[in-house]
Order: sequence, then structure tokens, then C-alpha cells
Amino acid sequence: MKYFSTRDKSLEFSFKDIFLRGLAPDGGLFLPSEIKKYTANELRNLSILSYVDLATEIIFNFCKDDIDKKELNALIEKSYKSFKSKDVVELKKIGNFNLLELYHGPTLAFKDIAMQVIGNMYDYLQVSKDKVVNIIVATSGDTGSAAISALNNRKNINVFVLHPHKKISNIQRKIMTTMGSKNIFNVAIEGSFDDCQKIVKDMFNENEFREKINMSGVNSINWARIICQIVYYFYAAFKIGKKKISFSVPTGNFGDIYAGYMAKKMGLPIDKLIVATNENDILQRVINTGEYKPSKVKPSLSPSMDIQISSNFERLLFDIVNQDDKKVASLMNDLLIKGFFKLDQEAVKIIKKDFCAEKISDEETLSIIENINTESKFILDPHTATAVGAVKKIGNLSETIILGTAHPYKFLETVKRATGKEIDAPAQLSNVVDKEEKFDIIENNISLIKNYILNKAI
Ligand SMILES: *Cc1c(COP(=O)(O)O)cnc(C)c1O
Repeated sequence: MKYFSTRDKSLEFSFKDIFLRGLAPDGGLFLPSEIKKYTANELRNLSILSYVDLATEIIFNFCKDDIDKKELNALIEKSYKSFKSKDVVELKKIGNFNLLELYHGPTLAFKDIAMQVIGNMYDYLQVSKDKVVNIIVATSGDTGSAAISALNNRKNINVFVLHPHKKISNIQRKIMTTMGSKNIFNVAIEGSFDDCQKIVKDMFNENEFREKINMSGVNSINWARIICQIVYYFYAAFKIGKKKISFSVPTGNFGDIYAGYMAKKMGLPIDKLIVATNENDILQRVINTGEYKPSKVKPSLSPSMDIQISSNFERLLFDIVNQDDKKVASLMNDLLIKGFFKLDQEAVKIIKKDFCAEKISDEETLSIIENINTESKFILDPHTATAVGAVKKIGNLSETIILGTAHPYKFLETVKRATGKEIDAPAQLSNVVDKEEKFDIIENNISLIKNYILNKAI
């Protein structure tokens, strides 16, 4: 099984290559040359598996040349040992909707589900055996802590986490800046998440620098994250057991919802994938009008979705333009040169077969958190609240599952504003608040950041 780039189908990579590199050398994203499609019978067999065994079956499809299946199973089992929920995720009925809680890992965000597996894959694939690997991560708040938790203290691995200074929640920052040991470096960039992500992408595209520091990445453009996230779409749909099901997903970089699209391609009977955005609504605009045009990032109450350049959309784009790599490259070039690209109405129609999208304002987010708390005595985090809001706006769908992407404690100021309630720290974080924070603040300037990394990377 080989991988290629969305911008050049003739390039060939192994799973190990793409795991380490994250981004293709031409700036495109990696996709697999084959996608397993399950028959109804095979789906029935999968539906009785435990979470760990289901994850093994699904993930193995994409890494069979590089990881032994038994060892993959053991690796996944070990990755989820620290989760508070024995089935990794929890499906709950809240009033009349289904909530899939994905936040029972060590840093209380859905990103732990992929990141814990990735951390163990670094060891298994021995990518740092002969030379220190330097992992550079851009975070809008949750990726950073999930990466630190997964990679803390690993031999021959350094992790540099770039977050937008003063644009993430206090708890998000505290988790990141108190947890790491000496292989972890937190950097607050004076800019937005998009600036952080651009710095990481530009570094990946500078061959000399990338090779010098043996650079690797674990952002949501890393294919290994997507394949871990496909699993819970299957798991939840099997639990509900209906013929057709929709999912509503709080979306930023289009990684989590793209995993849902992959699940559909693999044969899971999904009706609609609902993209919920905050005021940073580039995805809502491209899905409804065809125009992909980033504007300035607006800080919102759901900071992990404060993104205007939604990188994983390029993977969907590849399918939308009939897998024409030259067309993808030319659209991405338009984006670079003109600042936008525009899809025709035929393309919009294709996207709308699988997706719909709604934008939820901060005001709406607060009132959703308040209403759900009043109606059902349940507290949503602001990201998950946007997914509830999107379902309410669209209405009239097949049975829908809402993806709960973060624990409300991570956004306690917002929750208090909406409900007047304080929330207790969950066990995972009970000692975070008092620890000393460690991070450096750097201007939004790639050469300053490269120097910082070169000084610390050994
Ligand atoms: C990262 C994140 C998202 C967005 O996920 P994408 O894969 O970037 O779309 C949504 N909610 C929370 C809490 C997150 O941490």
C-alpha cells in the first residue's frame, strides 16, 4: 500500500515515510492509493468488536506494510490504558440527542485519541533510533497538550509547540506549559493559529532546515491522526444501530470531519456530515457557495476552531475535482497567488451530497450551553455547543450523533458566563492549576523561530 500527494499522484511513499513527514514535499497532503470498502457482512462482524479491536482492524488497513497486526493491537491497547472511560469513548443520550464524548483521555480533548497512538508509533517505527527527531506542532489550544502528553519523556524526541499568544483559554495554556519535561518546548507566537500553522508548513517545505533537524509533525494534516479518528465513527454508528446516521462535528482544520468522510467511503452508512463552525466560517462558506477565501481570524469562545486556513479540506478537494492532482495543484496555487479559489456549482453539488454546514455565533454558543444545562442538567463545552447548534438549525435529519470534542472544564470561564456554574477539575487535571508555567514568547517571524529551534534541537 502506497501513499501519494494530493498535488502529484506519481509520488510514492510508504506509511513510515508519511508518518514521519506529515506534509508531502510539494506542499500537498498524503492520501492512500487504496481504501478498503467493507461489505454489509464485514460491517456486521466489525460491529461486535471492542473499541481496541475495532481500531486495530480499521487502522491496520492503512499501515499493513509497516506494522504487524498483533503488535498494532498491543500498541493501541497500551495507548488507551490511561483513558477514564473503559471503552475509550462514551455515547450518551442528552435530552433528545446523542452525544459521543471523545474527551476522556489525559488532556480532556478528542485529540488524545489519535495522539496517544501516534506517540507509541514513534517508538514502534523506530524513527528516532539513530538521530534525534524534532517534532514541530502548531496548536490552537488542544493539539499541543495532547502531543505533549503523548510524547513527554520519549527518548531522542524533542517537541516544539507553537501556540498563538493570548489566544487560547487559560486552562488550555496551563495544561500545555506545566506538563512537559526537558524534551518539551512551548513557544507563544505573537500571531494567530493560522500564523503558527503557516510557520510549521513553511519549515516543512525548507528541505535543508527540515533535514538538518530531522523534522517531523503531528498536526491534523498527519494521516496517522485521521486514521485513528475514523474508528469512533464506526463505533458510535454500530452502537446506535440505525440504518442511516448523521454526524455533527465542531470543525476547524477539517481533520475530524474528514475522518467521518473516510468512514463513509469505507462503507459505513452515513447520511450527512454536518460541519459546525464558529464565526471563522470559511468552511461554511465554501460548502454553501464554492468560494474558499480565508479572511482574518476572529477570536471566539471556541478557540480550537479559530482557523481560516482549513488544511485538510485539500483532501476532500482531491475527490471533488475527480482526483485530478493537476487541478488541485492549480487551485492551491490560486489560493497562494490570489488569496482564494472558487469551485463551480457542479462541485458544490457534489460536496453537498455528503456535507452540510452551519455557522454558530458566540452569542448562540452561550445560549446553547445555557439551554442544554437548563433542559438536561448537562454542561457542554463551547466547541461541542456549536455542533448542537448546527443540528438545531438544520433540523429534520436522520438520527444524528454529536461529537463532543472537549471537556467543559477546559473552557470554564465561558461555561460560567453561560450558566453561572463553576465546574470541578476532572481527576486528570486536579494538580495542573498550581504548577509553574514554562514558555517563551517570540515574534511572528519564521527566522527567529528557526533560530530558537536550532539552539535547542540536539
Ligand atoms: C481541534 C479541535 C476541534 C477541531 O478539530 P479539526 O480536526 O481541526 O476540525 C474542535 N473542537 C476541539 C475541542 C478541538 O480541540
